[in-house]
Formats: sequence, structure tokens, C-alpha cells
Amino acid sequence: MTNLLDELVTKALDGRAPTRDEALALLVEETDSPDVLDVVAAGSRVRRHFFGRRVKLNTIINMKSGLCPEDCGYCSQRLGSGSDILKYSWIEPDEAAKTADRAAEAGAKRICLVASGRGPGRRDIGRITDTIAAIKDKRPGVEICACLGLLSEGQGEQLAEAGAYAYNHNLNTNEARYADICSTHTFGDRVDTVRQATGAGLSPCSGALFGMGESDEDIVSLAFELRELDPDSVPINFLIPFEGTPLSEQWDLTPQRCLRILALFRFCFPDVEVRLAGGREIHLRGMQPMALHLANSIFLGDYLTSEGQEVEQDRRMITDAGFTIEGAEERTLPDARRDLVTIRRRGAGTELPANA
Ligand code: SF4
Repeated sequence: MTNLLDELVTKALDGRAPTRDEALALLVEETDSPDVLDVVAAGSRVRRHFFGRRVKLNTIINMKSGLCPEDCGYCSQRLGSGSDILKYSWIEPDEAAKTADRAAEAGAKRICLVASGRGPGRRDIGRITDTIAAIKDKRPGVEICACLGLLSEGQGEQLAEAGAYAYNHNLNTNEARYADICSTHTFGDRVDTVRQATGAGLSPCSGALFGMGESDEDIVSLAFELRELDPDSVPINFLIPFEGTPLSEQWDLTPQRCLRILALFRFCFPDVEVRLAGGREIHLRGMQPMALHLANSIFLGDYLTSEGQEVEQDRRMITDAGFTIEGAEERTLPDARRDLVTIRRRGAGTELPANA
């Protein structure tokens, strides 16, 4: 088994993915499986190689909460949800800017502007445009990620023009079981939106949600499906089983399982931002600092509809575990990551003016 882990580290440092069998071997918990501590130690070599001991902080601002017409089974904002969550329509740009300012003060490099719904309308793009301007006015260096659901033609470009840096749209679960968790849109719809965002020049952020009854094979399939989209960041969420949702009784994750899943994603996405996202507090519990040896990024503060760990507690956890908070001037992705090379689409040979 040491050979397997050494082989996976060698491959990851070379930018190669595990095979399906190798990936599955990381998840299996049997007597002859690699011990979780060895798996974390191997994954941490890859994490340190590409990201050192830096932890990037990100904050979510829920721009519009609840009352979604979609029926994603895990979501407290879904159609017919009985969850007792905050429900409100769009918050004003100034309110979002104040929240972003506080988060940046606490160390957040990226602000994620999220809205419930199937996808943005024309007025919603206008609202996000105004919000980005208000945030950038106070914090010009902050990265803005929009997460507004399925994109229509041209909306990615509009968001990029407004100053968004990234677009988030998670695949959440693998294609084969997508219809089990949602009936109002398809896996293909989600893939299309990630591709549209990438095509518009936005940094693609697409991740996963575990704890919904998926098998080891499903987890590996999703990792490989996400790899095909070549995201720059991959948030890993663990189900928050809200009362009032169909998955409210689903508590089948353990801290060890979460660590194995995170290690698998580190090996599949060696030089990509792997972000520890929703559900870390309730599923990793006291093992959260161990997860920092695999993920190089976490959410700071509250989630969309549930409260997160206190900011000071997170900051202390990071320093106690021997990590540092990534500074605004530090680059997150390694210089060698190939998508830092942007193919020229302007100037000579195009209709667009040159850069200089
Ligand atoms: S995940 Fe998004 S699209 Fe699905 S129900 Fe929740 S808010 Fe709506």
C-alpha cells in the first residue's frame, strides 16, 4: 500500500491523475486498505508541493435566499422546502459591499456572490454588476466569484465585463445518479454552464457534494467528470442535512471518510485549488485541522443558509495547525498551471482592438 501512495504522489507531482482502481483504493476502508493517516500524509506532500502551507480564505454572500423553483434534494432553498431558513429577495449592492469589506478585513481573498434560482435574468445581471462595482470600490483587489445558476448565452461575458473573476457552478454528484437528486435540470445543463463560464474567460469553479448516499464508484466517477472540465477551483461540500429537505435524515459521513474523499480530490486535482466548503464543521468535527493538509482553501464565516464556525476560531485553527493565511498579493495557483497561458483572442487577426 505504501507503493500505491508513493505512486500516487509521483503521478500527482507530474500532473497525472490516478487510475480508477487507484482512486477507489483510497476510499475503501478495509483491514488491508491504506491507513487514513498515511493517505493524508501522502496527499499533504502534493498539497505542500504546489501550495506550500498557505490557506486561501473565501466568503459567501447570499444575495437572494430561498424560494427557488428548482428541486435539488439537498438544498434548504429548494422548491417546497420546509426548512426554517432566512428568505429574502435581492440585497442591495451597498449591503453586500459592507459584508465583503468585513470579510476582506478578516482575510478573505475571494467573495462569492450567490443567488438562489434556476439562473439569472437580465435584471439580475444588472444587480450583480452594480454589486461588483460597489465591492470593488472599497476593495479593488478582491476576487469576485458569481454563482447564479444556469447561464444563458452571453451572460458569462457580461459578468466578466462587469469585473467578475470566476463563476461557480458545482456538479455536485456524478452523471449516473444526477436524476436521483434533482428533476428540474440535468447534469448536462450544469456541465454546459461551467463550459460557458470558461469560454467567457471566467475562472471555472466547480465542485462536489458528498454524503447523499453515493458509492465509492460514484465519488470516483464525479472526480473524473470534474477533471474533464478542468476547473481552477473545486469546492468539496459535505451534506448539511437540513430539516424540511428530503435528505434530512442522511447522516452517513465520518471524519475519516471525509478525509479520504479530500485526499482523492487532492490526487485528482494536484495543482488546483481544492476548497473545504459547507458541512466541514459537522462532519469533520475535531479533524478539521487534518483536512488543511489536503485542501488549500476554505470558506470563512457563514454558509448560504446555515452558520459556520466563528472566524477567530478558523484563523486560530489555521495557525495552530502550522499554516498561514494566503495574502492578497500571493498567487493561489502555481505558476506552471497551464491555463495561466491565455490564448490571444484580440488584436491582429481579430475584430477586437489589441491590448497595447
Ligand atoms: S441548489 Fe441552487 S438551483 Fe438547486 S434548489 Fe438550491 S438554490 Fe435552487
